Amino acid sequence: MNLTQRQENIARKIEDAVCISKWRDWKWQVKNVIQDIDTFEKLTGIKFEREEKEKLIKTLEIFPLSITPFYLSLIDTENYKNDPIFKQAFPSYKELEKSNCEMNDPLAEDADSPVELITHRYPDRVLFHISNACAMYCRHCTRKRKVGDVDYIPQKEKIEKGIKYIRENKEIRDVLLSGGDPFMLSDEYLDWILTELRKIEHVEVIRIGTRTPVVLPYRITENLTNMLKKHHPIWINTHFNHPRELTPSTKKAVEKLADAGIPLGNQSVLLAGVNDCPRIIKKLVQLLVKNRVRPYYLYQCDLSEGLSHFRTPVGKGIEIMESLRGHTSGFAIPTYVIDAPGGGGKIPVMPNYLISWSTNKVILRNYEGVITAYKEPDNYQNICCDLNCAECDLELNISEGEEVIAIGLEKLLSEHDKTLSLTPENNDRLNRREN
Ligand SMILES: *Cc1c(COP(=O)(O)O)cnc(C)c1O
Repeated sequence: MNLTQRQENIARKIEDAVCISKWRDWKWQVKNVIQDIDTFEKLTGIKFEREEKEKLIKTLEIFPLSITPFYLSLIDTENYKNDPIFKQAFPSYKELEKSNCEMNDPLAEDADSPVELITHRYPDRVLFHISNACAMYCRHCTRKRKVGDVDYIPQKEKIEKGIKYIRENKEIRDVLLSGGDPFMLSDEYLDWILTELRKIEHVEVIRIGTRTPVVLPYRITENLTNMLKKHHPIWINTHFNHPRELTPSTKKAVEKLADAGIPLGNQSVLLAGVNDCPRIIKKLVQLLVKNRVRPYYLYQCDLSEGLSHFRTPVGKGIEIMESLRGHTSGFAIPTYVIDAPGGGGKIPVMPNYLISWSTNKVILRNYEGVITAYKEPDNYQNICCDLNCAECDLELNISEGEEVIAIGLEKLLSEHDKTLSLTPENNDRLNRREN
């Protein structure tokens, strides 16, 4: 693969002729990230008005800039104001506009942190923030509060505390390595963390969330994939937001990961002015599956400070989901989710397909608007579960098949729990009853 003319120009401006071969060295890319407006102007040929530049510099004091030369080379410099690459990488002074619904840590990740580096929100899985560094600072980062903290990779002692928490909590069967970007760690350090996690018997799956295939594709080296292969099952989620991000280099990066036997997922964020269009998302998901990446989540933009100009109404997301279901391969369709402000976790949102119901029929509509009736069975024998799997006709027959205690809606549906309703805390009506 040759460098594009634009890449060659940028490379030569960063260093003289010798560096062309270094372009594909990820460490060279990281060393030469663009962090100030002057360098950005020099490398792209884009010039900002003085007044605009002053506003941008003010923005960078709060939310710093970092773009890899690779990602920079994808910017359409002729039409940068409408460019989805530019908008994800380059600040807007709108980041400083605060609205009162925005929060520093909208997902309460810090509050749900039992030990440093761990967010434990769901019963059987945790986020493990093993890196506080990223090659590129995405302007729409949900952890914007942390962007620009001194970049660091946590020391072994700190990581060991996280591992200890996972070891001591046997319900954790799925560990998500997150950050920052876990692939900013060296292969050796990552190998050590994965080896330690693999020693824990109850850890079944390890997932890695990384945007390097998109913004630093040269990070996906043979050495890295060979190391990852030793620790299977490893799953990776990456973060493509726009079809323009699928380039020869980024396709090669996901191909190497897929060839290493790693199932790949993609988490996109719905962003105003970048991808808030059914045709763009459809093109994106189709390109992803063509490259063996399964669209996993489409996120509604979080309420983090500095993101208001990226937010769309939820209706835009539903409109996009309406345009996908039925219109393209089922496995190309992500789940659209809103990550609950306050830390309730991801909540799926979609168009309604179930439109009415009687005692023996369900009325549904399909993607074309055809309305149809599904007849319920006449003789369904509801087996009253006695929570005794050992004697059940359905023969669960697995040793770990013990019953878990129901919570939430599951509790209301259970035949064993006498709970009639779920009530918000400090409900006035119930408080009056007690008095
Ligand atoms: C997203 C997330 C997970 C993983 O959720 P899945 O739906 O299993 O992908 C786990 N913990 C936290 C805190 C998360 O935000």
